[in-house]
Amino acid sequence: MNIAAWRYYLRLYQGFHKLLSLSIILAITQSILLFASALLVGYVIDKVLPTRNLSLLVQVAIAIFFIRSLEQIAVLYKQNVDINITKWVIEKIRNDLSKKIYTFSRSYYSEADMGKLHGYLIQDTDRVDTLGGALISNLLPAFLVSLVLSSALIYLNVFLFIFSLGLAPLFFLISKIMGEKVQRRTQQFYDAFLQFNKEIWQALHQMDLTRIQTAENFELERQKRYFENLRVKSIAMLLTNGTYNIAQQLLVTTAGIIILLIGGYAVARNTMTLGNLIAFYFILNLLRNNLTKVLNSVPQIIAGNESLINLFNILEIESCRPYQGVIKLDFSGKISLKSIDFQYNNTWVLQNFNLTIPPHKAVAIVGPNGSGKSTTTYLILGFYRPQKGRLYADDRPFDILDIAHLRQQIGVVMQDVTIFSGTIWENITYGLPNATQAEVVEAATTATAQEFIIGFSKGYNTLVGYGGMLLSGGQRQRIAIARALLRKPKLLILDEPTNHLDEASVIALMKNIKQLQPAPTILIISHNLDIVQEADVIYALENGSLVAKKI
Ligand code: ADP
Repeated sequence: MNIAAWRYYLRLYQGFHKLLSLSIILAITQSILLFASALLVGYVIDKVLPTRNLSLLVQVAIAIFFIRSLEQIAVLYKQNVDINITKWVIEKIRNDLSKKIYTFSRSYYSEADMGKLHGYLIQDTDRVDTLGGALISNLLPAFLVSLVLSSALIYLNVFLFIFSLGLAPLFFLISKIMGEKVQRRTQQFYDAFLQFNKEIWQALHQMDLTRIQTAENFELERQKRYFENLRVKSIAMLLTNGTYNIAQQLLVTTAGIIILLIGGYAVARNTMTLGNLIAFYFILNLLRNNLTKVLNSVPQIIAGNESLINLFNILEIESCRPYQGVIKLDFSGKISLKSIDFQYNNTWVLQNFNLTIPPHKAVAIVGPNGSGKSTTTYLILGFYRPQKGRLYADDRPFDILDIAHLRQQIGVVMQDVTIFSGTIWENITYGLPNATQAEVVEAATTATAQEFIIGFSKGYNTLVGYGGMLLSGGQRQRIAIARALLRKPKLLILDEPTNHLDEASVIALMKNIKQLQPAPTILIISHNLDIVQEADVIYALENGSLVAKKI
């Protein structure tokens, strides 16, 4: 039991005082109505049947029918209230999680197991949803109904009730022994499920790779092992749950029979009326149904508890934003990096790195793969903080700036562009849904994308497929450039534009961008010196620092 996780969870119910009270009132109403109908059954046996008054019998039967109908209406209404509460709560958790994941640093993402994280966000929220249902719709009402029904039993026969209570330690013992086993098996099953989810996620993401490597059989064999493990763990969990439920049922049934025997003895000795015994038994049966509900929801609560802890751990991950400043800078496009030293996990990438990108100029950095060019982009975007030195935007240190606001004024095209399933329009306007047709066409034209887009029969409404599969590499890159330009960036960063564009295309693109009014500052990063000749200033990145090639 993780107290902090439960405190977080229960706090989510705080806004639902009124609905929860209504749910409790409805549960109590339900049990009082049940009690009343049990008393009427006893009344029929003790008072009505001996008089052989058929019309009274019919009247009492109608009354019982009426009371039970009312009770069912209360159940229906309560169900409605409970579903509303629990679904709101799980929506709140999902919202909290989705807010949380955007606060993670890039270091977290680069090291996290995304398949697992995906599993937590999907499966664990679902299990916590089930937990909410079990608590609000089963446990809480069953507890209240049991309280009222127990009072009814005390009213009918204290001795029999005390005897029934005597069986409680036995229930407790079985719950303890079996509960631990259920918990262990449930955990093993969920671990297997998480692994299975992760493997499938990965398999779908590397479909092309698997085909290219003709690794289908290898993949199938690998997945088979996960399916097998899932089967074994799932059988073990279900059998343990089943055994647990049957053991509980058996105990409840034995208790019922013993009570019937003792009650029957009391009736035979005239210390209890037959009507009272039947009412007692009737109520005991209701109590048993209630307890069964509770017992059946125990595995769900155990699983939900595990999932709640997983989700809470995600919510507790420190959101280490590299910069905490608040000043919203109206950026002119000037960026400076001064005496920067930067390393990932003890490996220095940049050392004594100095760079100034003047506004409205085009600066190029060339360097071999792995020399730290993309890292420079990440530093400018404020994804990481250098271990030494400082970055400035318009001569203001990053520390005092609202970096998200600064980022809104920077357009970036990374070397591996991200194109998602959807239309070309949706891809270009991502993050700027209110962009006008004229703005989108202007951005696409500058990005040299307009021509091929209107060449498609559906134009901007063309669906691009998963990861932009239906487009060529160059088309994907041009769409990403249009996306970056749409926000009218003050600084435009093009990371390896030659990955998918030929030299002529890059030169045409640079010309278009330079003609924009006002012209953005451009940082172009490449391993190819030839394509950056359009830049005003060219630096080479060598051994972690810059050497001027053209000034
Ligand atoms: P370039 O863009 O010049 O090809 P990068 O800036 O991507 O180079 O990478 C520079 C070096 O930093 C490489 O050796 C790379 O392996 C390492 N590196 C890049 N990203 C990370 C990361 N998130 N964690 C650890 N090392 C990294």
